[in-house]
Amino acid sequence: MTRFHAELACLGGGTATADVLIDTADGVITGVASGVAAPADAVELRGLTVPGLVNAHSHVFHRAIRGHSQSGVADFWAWRDVMYAVAARLDPDNLYALARATYAEMALAGITTVGEFHYLHHDRDGTTYEDPNAMGDAVVRAANEAGIRITLLDTCYLQANVTGAPLGGVQRRFDDRSWEQWAQRLDPLSDTAMLRVGGAIHSVRAVPRAALEPIADHTRRQGMPLHVHLSEQPAENAACLDAHGLTPTALLTAERVLAPTTTAVHATHLTEADITLLGQSGTTICMCPTTERDLADGVGPAVTLARRGSPLCVGSDAHAMIDLFEEARAIELDERLVTGHRGHLRAGELLTAATAAGAAALGWDAGRIAPGALADLATVRLDTPRTAGARAGDPVAQTVYAATAADVSAVVVGGRVVVDGGEHVDVPDVGAALDAAITALMT
Ligand SMILES: [Zn+2]
Repeated sequence: MTRFHAELACLGGGTATADVLIDTADGVITGVASGVAAPADAVELRGLTVPGLVNAHSHVFHRAIRGHSQSGVADFWAWRDVMYAVAARLDPDNLYALARATYAEMALAGITTVGEFHYLHHDRDGTTYEDPNAMGDAVVRAANEAGIRITLLDTCYLQANVTGAPLGGVQRRFDDRSWEQWAQRLDPLSDTAMLRVGGAIHSVRAVPRAALEPIADHTRRQGMPLHVHLSEQPAENAACLDAHGLTPTALLTAERVLAPTTTAVHATHLTEADITLLGQSGTTICMCPTTERDLADGVGPAVTLARRGSPLCVGSDAHAMIDLFEEARAIELDERLVTGHRGHLRAGELLTAATAAGAAALGWDAGRIAPGALADLATVRLDTPRTAGARAGDPVAQTVYAATAADVSAVVVGGRVVVDGGEHVDVPDVGAALDAAITALMT
């Protein structure tokens, strides 16, 4: 049993409670008491403790192109060429090194769980590795080494466009050839204390219509979460309308993909009818605002989606930055720019997007500081230049609106301290590890 004593903790409702004693055993929170002085045997958490942050959408290898893909690359499709050039160089070893360092960066940012939308399955010429899951295994081991939970959203990717053009070049690495072979490859994978196996449909571009419902059925039978990229680009909508006479959302509805266990990523370019379909189905929406702004995707109708019934979560996606406070507040701030009004979502709701909603979307009972939940916590210092003054005001709101990843001082995953004093316990110099992994890959 490990006990933690939080100076301030967010126990829900967007407010901070003082002197919170959090008991944990076997990785789970067993008791929460407030207004209690710190007992001698408790690990002290100074600042504001929130549930561990959940990064619901990651393509871990994109970390290698931070910066150089962001300047002078004209549009989404040109950016994709830069990204594919890196995808072509990866193997299980260099992917492992890059992923371990990137997940350690996530841990330092307060992230206790990542959803890895993983489609880089096969060798450079498209042949299957001796271990068909060698690449997926590399990212799972990397997350374990970095001390964070992972939901491996193993992605089905079968065609180059909505009309079924075959995959060529680097895209052959994604190709399982049929949804049945994709499902077969997943078969030997099973959940552990730190791993959930999930499924993903890359997009309506990359999976033929006939495979959509079978994939959704398969994941539901296995009790897996299902994720799908949705309407990130207007070109995808136009091609889908051309081929099927339906928007991507209407197509996913017709093929029974949308459900409370499904998460649609981006959902940027939607019609009114799309928004209603997503909300009525209870599909979660994963917003990735720092990526969407970087790629000039546009601003999705997050607040309307939430009002119509879709929970919101967030992801750092292409890792232009890894800072879930920035992702969460961007939902509200982007909405302000679009509408000319303030006050759409409260700070507590934005924090829920970065915690409980993400955990649910990835299949974990986490994201709240309460008995029965996984003992995943992140503590933010309230004495940094950005967060100072929070104790005298609204600690939760100031954290959501002003804190950065650099203000996280302690991270606990399953009752184990992973970050202490702003340093990773198992990866001593995360910057150096990232530098080495990226330099080796890019030169
Ligand atoms: Zn993505």
